[in-house]
Amino acid sequence: MRKSMILKTLICGGSVSLTVIDSTAVVAEGMRRHHFSAVAAAAFGRTLTACAYLCSWLKGEKSSLAVTVNGGGVGGKICVAGDSFLRMRGFVEHPDAELPPRQDGKLDVGGFVGKDGTITVVADDGTGIPFTGTSELVSGEIAEDFSAYFLTSEQRPTAVALGVRVKGTQILGAGGVFLQPLPGAGEEAFSYCEEQVGLFRNLSSLIEEKGADGVLRMLTDGAYTERDFSYRCHCSAKRAESAVLSLGKQDAYALLKEQGKISVHCHYCNTDYTFSKEDLKRLFGEEA
Ligand SMILES: [Zn+2]
Repeated sequence: MRKSMILKTLICGGSVSLTVIDSTAVVAEGMRRHHFSAVAAAAFGRTLTACAYLCSWLKGEKSSLAVTVNGGGVGGKICVAGDSFLRMRGFVEHPDAELPPRQDGKLDVGGFVGKDGTITVVADDGTGIPFTGTSELVSGEIAEDFSAYFLTSEQRPTAVALGVRVKGTQILGAGGVFLQPLPGAGEEAFSYCEEQVGLFRNLSSLIEEKGADGVLRMLTDGAYTERDFSYRCHCSAKRAESAVLSLGKQDAYALLKEQGKISVHCHYCNTDYTFSKEDLKRLFGEEA
């Protein structure tokens, strides 16, 4: 499978920023780790793609960002995060929840996510003083919701198209198109963005057929920049060890006695780190 990538360029004489994302491989990796239902994969993939877009603007090596979509639907919360190196990760609270398709045959992402809640974005530029932005969900379909987020929380009107095509456990195509008038662009630049985003109603099929380059070429012949991105978690055996160490010797041994082992679970990549009696001896020394 081709690498996930983010393409960026300027169009309309430099007054509109265009970003095209192919996230197929990263969403497929999410599917492999979390065993999503089809509708969960679509909701996750759309949210992760929007989060990758936000991460693509991060400045500074230590910057990172987390998005939570909490709409009260059957899927529960969707949490995705990434950093300035575009290492993405995430999970869905109820990954196996399912819903019948909508009347038009599409996956009912709006029903899965719900629209009674918010999108919250927490960005940290590495100084430890995070910026938090929140906006109300519009439909739970994710693209419209992020469009509203950009407008109300960042005061940057942005036309957004997102799509994920799922077949069984396979992700056939996933991606996003973001059209954003630059500061100072006229009213006509925004109408142009709104109009053009309509071309991408079947974005997941377009990504599957043409790739990100082919989709970008629907709007411009110009040069563009390209960055790869991947699914990568921050967790490690070392970090899991620190979590166990933070329990303290007494509580760690008590927990071991109760459960036979100690498990540290990472939601973001669905990995379990388990610690046996031998491990505790190594970490804390013999039981007192
Ligand atoms: Zn992890």
